[in-house]
Formats: sequence, structure tokens, C-alpha cells
Amino acid sequence: MPRLLILGGTSEAGQLARQLAPAHEVVSSLAGRTAAPAALAGAVRIGGFGGAAGLEAYLREGAFDAVIDATHPFAARISAAAATACAAAGIRLLALRRPSWSPVAGDHWIMVPSMAEAARLLPSLGRRAFLAIGRQELAAFGAVSGVWLLVRLLAPETLALPEYHIVLGRGPFRVEDETALLVEHRIDVVVTKESGGTATSAKLAAARALSLPVLMIRRPPGLVGVETVTEVAAAVEWVGALSGTMESP
Ligand code: NAP
Repeated sequence: MPRLLILGGTSEAGQLARQLAPAHEVVSSLAGRTAAPAALAGAVRIGGFGGAAGLEAYLREGAFDAVIDATHPFAARISAAAATACAAAGIRLLALRRPSWSPVAGDHWIMVPSMAEAARLLPSLGRRAFLAIGRQELAAFGAVSGVWLLVRLLAPETLALPEYHIVLGRGPFRVEDETALLVEHRIDVVVTKESGGTATSAKLAAARALSLPVLMIRRPPGLVGVETVTEVAAAVEWVGALSGTMESP
């Protein structure tokens, strides 16, 4: 039975742990950004490893057989560290990376390469913006003037932004609720990361229904040379094949 480390912090990582934990030795790793993370099946460890070298040492000490990097597509540093650490320790690595979204009729997406570029363009697109980008990169919008910001967060905090209002919420969200939120706050532009996923994004569907532009920050490219799947089921299959290999004489 392989011993598995799941690098998590996403709903897909939680689903994977739930499906694998009953029959495998699974440890899920969280960065520790969320004060009260959702419960996970199997063992859980919290906090950074101290870069690729720290992760390599952790993998060796824990005698892990494989790592599944199920982190968010924007969590590029831990993914790069996983690739380096697994290569150095000779441990199998699979990336579970949700598929990108594709625009459909009625979508008006403006794709930008960075938060800074999104902040630069924002005043040309609207006066009341919904920022659904998490909390870590809000500072990029600190110098935006003339745009009122509705910021969705998991917990209240004071932000270094000129004019803002916080709305608390943890996904998944419903299209009707997202639409009501945008209407209530008279939002005229939505800002989001190109996180992707298999489920329809409620905020994108709401923006489409209201004919609002969406300023979308492009996701970082995936790592070349790392075996990658886009679905939880494919990751479970990969582990099944790995277990089969390990059981062979
Ligand atoms: P990041 O920039 O790639 O990572 C920064 C540092 O945080 C890493 O170098 C590592 O510290 C630590 N870290 C990140 N993920 C970890 C994990 N699963 N277990 C242990 N340590 C981890 O990542 P981030 O963008 O800050 O995201 C942090 C976490 O939030 C990730 O687990 C990700 O899946 C989740 N998340 C991120 C986003 C997003 O938009 N970025 C959205 C939803 C969820 P050391 O160098 O000390 O090892």
C-alpha cells in the first residue's frame, strides 16, 4: 500500500483524500492560511516545509512513495518545490490541476497576465468592482482610484484599499445568490483569477446573465515534465496503478 502525500488547500484535494484515505496511508498537507480549514479524511499536517529542500527531507523521513500536488493553479511556488523535491528524492509526482474555464456566448472576459495589470485596467472598465480574488494579492489594488471595491473574504479584516466593503463567504456559491450580490451592490465589473474547475463558476454565470465584463487574471503555466491530470477520478486511477506496481513481485 503506497504512502501518499497530498498537497492540498483545494476542494479537489479534499475529495481525493476522502476517496483514498479508507484504503491508503494518506497525509494531506495544508499551508495554514485558513484559521478553520474544512475537516479532511486521513492524517493532516499544517504549515510550510521550508522550500524544496525541506519538502524533500519531509518526504524521505516520512518514507512517502508518491506525492499528489492538488494545490490551486495559482499556488506556483509549492508546485515548483514539489517537482524539485520529488525529482531529488526519486518519488513519483502527479499534479491534479483543474481544467481552465472557456468562455461561452455572452461572456465578455478581458484576460490579463497579472494582478498589477488588472488593477491598471480596472478604472477603464467600471466604477464598482467585485474582487473575487482571495486576500493575498489585494495590495495590488491599493492605488486604484475612482473604483469602489466589493471584496469577498473568508473572514473580516482591515484592508489597505481606498474605498471598499467586505462580504464574507465560502464557496461553492449559487448563481442566483451571486447575481443578487452583484445587483445589490450595483457592480459593473467582476475581477477574478482564472482558477478553473469542472463545476460551472457561479460568479461567471452571474456576470454573463448581467452582461458584465470580467477582468480575469491568467493562471501561471503548469510545470513542464510533471505528469498531470485534470480530474479527481484520474488521480485515483493513477494511485490504483501505482499500488498495482508496488504489489507486483
Ligand atoms: P504558494 O505561493 O505556491 O506557496 C507559498 C508557500 O506556502 C510555499 O512555498 C510553502 O511554504 C507553503 N505552502 C503552500 N501550499 C502548501 C501546502 N499545501 N502544504 C504546505 N505548505 C504549503 O501558495 P499560495 O498561493 O500561497 O497558496 C497557499 C495554499 O492555499 C495552497 O495550499 C493552495 O492550494 C491554497 N489556495 C491558494 C489559492 C490561490 O489563489 N493562490 C486559492 C485557493 C487555495 P514552504 O516554502 O515553507 O514549504
